[in-house]
Amino acid sequence: MVFAASPLHADTSSTAGGAIEIKNLAKRYGSVRAVDDVSLVVRPGEFLALLGPSGSGKTSILMSIAGFELPDSGSISIDGRDVTYLPANQRNLGMVFQKYTLFPHLSVRDNVAFGLKMRGVAKAERLRLAEQALATVRLEGYGDRMPAQLSGGQQQRVALARAIVYRPKVLLMDEPLSALDKNLREEMQLEIKRLQSQLGITVVFVTHDQGEALTMADRVAILSQGRIQQLDEPKALYERPRTRFVAGFIGETNFMPVEVQSLLPGGALVQLPGGANPTEVRAEGLVGNIVARGDAVGALRPEQITLADPDDPAALRAVVNGVIYGGSTVLCVAQLTDGTELRARLPDPSRVNVMAGDCVGLRWPVEALRVYGADAGAEVAAS
Ligand code: ADP
Ligand code: MG
Repeated sequence: MVFAASPLHADTSSTAGGAIEIKNLAKRYGSVRAVDDVSLVVRPGEFLALLGPSGSGKTSILMSIAGFELPDSGSISIDGRDVTYLPANQRNLGMVFQKYTLFPHLSVRDNVAFGLKMRGVAKAERLRLAEQALATVRLEGYGDRMPAQLSGGQQQRVALARAIVYRPKVLLMDEPLSALDKNLREEMQLEIKRLQSQLGITVVFVTHDQGEALTMADRVAILSQGRIQQLDEPKALYERPRTRFVAGFIGETNFMPVEVQSLLPGGALVQLPGGANPTEVRAEGLVGNIVARGDAVGALRPEQITLADPDDPAALRAVVNGVIYGGSTVLCVAQLTDGTELRARLPDPSRVNVMAGDCVGLRWPVEALRVYGADAGAEVAAS
């Protein structure tokens, strides 16, 4: 279903996806820094997700790229051309919003063809391209329907067809799936991924749903308070979060106070809570400024923890506070001797036979513990 070359696109270069470069973008609303010195590059054909809690500045960044918001400072270029102050309708970007925003009085076909009409494309060509776009989103045969006759998922497909019909090099999407229920959302995630690789288009996708960002995107920018905390591939975000904010935001994390005893070549020796079992942490697990005899924060994924004998000298002693059945896993909440609670997510529920009150040992692979210095907190942006 790849689009054939057409006069509409005879002048485009060979790459289907545009490159976006954002430099030192800033946008304030009164005293709120909605976007606070954001710089990032989106590669041609890349699927980039902007992920962060509500109010972290995702929409403000997207609207600046689209040209619906003017930044206070900084610049945005697309394929090397500065578009910072270019009107939205001259940027040739596709947009899909959370609300489908279809014209209710126009048929599906006319909704899709509308943007082409605005661009002066002749009628026969408009209808042909609209049919093609509808086929691309798997809505062949729906052209004559009215939007109200479609389900939410189908309406969002029409919105998608409308955004891609004039074959923009960049597609911007702001929480496009959050109005859909879970099953439909997952189906549409796959659909959008398929479409993106088929068209080779660059996508910037805003979401507050980490699962959505991690499954769909090539790279994810984690935002907090208008700043990029980390921009990385999903695996790196999960395995090597560079700030405590990211460690807490992506997946589940146990945080615990640790004391750095000494620095080692390529690592450190840290004292765990409860005064037990000094542990050697390798440098790849050290984040920020770690100093000898300083306090720091240890971070550990629950699925990295396994249960051991309480007398195992390599394990931390703990008392089980609760065991929560979770389908394919069991969550075991255990308390260390100093009161710190750790959560262990254990596979294979049928083989977990501990209960509240039991004394257990907790173990994990040495590389699983990450140690964050005081400067690697929520406020620190990744450089
Ligand atoms: P997100 O999309 O991540 O939820 P936004 O970019 O919409 O975040 O908002 C970032 C911050 O800017 C929030 O604190 C929000 O309240 C504020 N903000 C956004 N748009 C406006 C506006 N038009 N007027 C005033 N404040 C705004
Ligand atoms: Mg938003």
